[in-house]
Amino acid sequence: MPLAPDTIGSYWEASVEIAAVDPALGTDLSAEVAVIGAGYTGLSAALRLAEAGVSVAVLDAKSVGWGASGRNGGFCCFGGTKLPETELIRRFGLDEAKRFVRYQIEAIETVKTRLDAWGVDADRHSDGEIILAHRPRDFAEFSETAELLDRHFGYRPKILSRDALKTAGIQGPEFFGGLHVPFGFALNPMKYVLALADQARAAGANVFGDSPVTAVAREGAGWRLKSPSGSVHAQKVILAGNGYASEDAPRWLAGRTLPVMSSILVTRPLTESECAGQGWTSDLMAADTRTLLHYFRLLPDRRFLFGTRGGIFETKSALAAMKRRSRADFERMFPAWADVETEYFWSGHVCLARRLTPFVGPVPEMDGVVAAMAWHGSGIAMASLSGETAADLVLGRIAPADLPAAMATPFARFPLPALRRAYLQAAYWWFGFKDR
Ligand SMILES: Cc1cc2nc3c(=O)[nH]c(=O)nc-3n(C[C@H](O)[C@H](O)[C@H](O)COP(=O)(O)OP(=O)(O)OC[C@H]3O[C@@H](n4cnc5c(N)ncnc54)[C@H](O)[C@@H]3O)c2cc1C
Repeated sequence: MPLAPDTIGSYWEASVEIAAVDPALGTDLSAEVAVIGAGYTGLSAALRLAEAGVSVAVLDAKSVGWGASGRNGGFCCFGGTKLPETELIRRFGLDEAKRFVRYQIEAIETVKTRLDAWGVDADRHSDGEIILAHRPRDFAEFSETAELLDRHFGYRPKILSRDALKTAGIQGPEFFGGLHVPFGFALNPMKYVLALADQARAAGANVFGDSPVTAVAREGAGWRLKSPSGSVHAQKVILAGNGYASEDAPRWLAGRTLPVMSSILVTRPLTESECAGQGWTSDLMAADTRTLLHYFRLLPDRRFLFGTRGGIFETKSALAAMKRRSRADFERMFPAWADVETEYFWSGHVCLARRLTPFVGPVPEMDGVVAAMAWHGSGIAMASLSGETAADLVLGRIAPADLPAAMATPFARFPLPALRRAYLQAAYWWFGFKDR
């Protein structure tokens, strides 16, 4: 039976039946590879390893998809970094920027190929993604962006004027034009992560729930991962905790990533006349041009999903304030739906790194430990491919130099790590001011 809405947090949980509950680790065991985290990254790594005949144990503090992989907006799109293409080119050079963009396209393709091969529909829709200019001056910049993407990366997003948006069924007082990126699609993220876990288990991976890893200690030629009710000894370890990673498992992670919040509201199903009244009938997934962006789409069952970035703290009052802010933004951007009820609201952690780029590679001074983290709020595609990449590194099929430079440098520690949330708050105030 699907769970009742009032007993769960997210619409995705309500939309599935969770058939498998993985046991907690109840003993001391050995595996060739241990993976911390059962989201897209950890499960993709586990699937790849199990298919290669390697024994693998996946440990999650809660359960499959409990982290961001079961809570996200379902935009399978470009991602992994907060850096714009111009900055990627400046930092890494044009060739490396091209490699990184190719990796992101391959990542989207990876998810599509998996779902097709497994026969899982996961409620897919949306042919690409549309970025909506929230001010006329952002629309004016679209032609330069499209030209740059065409010149350097070989694809040209289509520019839509306000009138063209209206014809496409995309209207709102804050949308001054669109840039249609021809990559990506939308999905039900929980259906995808559950299918991924099924595949990993079927291939032979051992998945454990309710098994927080509290320490990673050197033992012999390998590592012992300690959990309250057991431990795993493994030659190799993959860190896939992303925005939920513990700072001390292993200690190398301390001060190197920054979890921040993203929140989603989902309305009740809209009627056809309500959609027409707002002028939004498109099934395209959309995001606006704000730095603290909103992301939104009409779901296949005609509910509207509306996501807001920007929360930092997770206290009850901070979450309540975030819910009020999300709802106010939704009503301002979609005034015809101001009376449409929110049926679901939830939040989750995304993971930022100091350089605003992800890291997939060997952890310095921890022989045999590989990290794959920091997708900067867009990880469905990137985490999926990067889990495989982490497994390939562990298997010795590829070397770190085979990866795009933008994702091959270990995380730097944040300055004054204890204060990093506080200074991010200051940055968010500034972004909020700049986004007006
Ligand atoms: C609200 C929201 C909306 C989002 N929308 C989108 C979107 O539309 N498109 C997109 O591409 N991305 C989106 N993202 C980001 C995307 O969901 C993530 O980048 C992606 O799911 C990361 O997958 P992961 O496997 O790396 O980490 P997660 O799915 O977060 O999994 C990490 C797991 O590790 C476990 N863990 C951590 N530490 C330990 C430990 N010490 N011991 C045991 N287990 C541990 C946690 O319990 C967790 O289950 C969104 C995120 C959020 C929160």
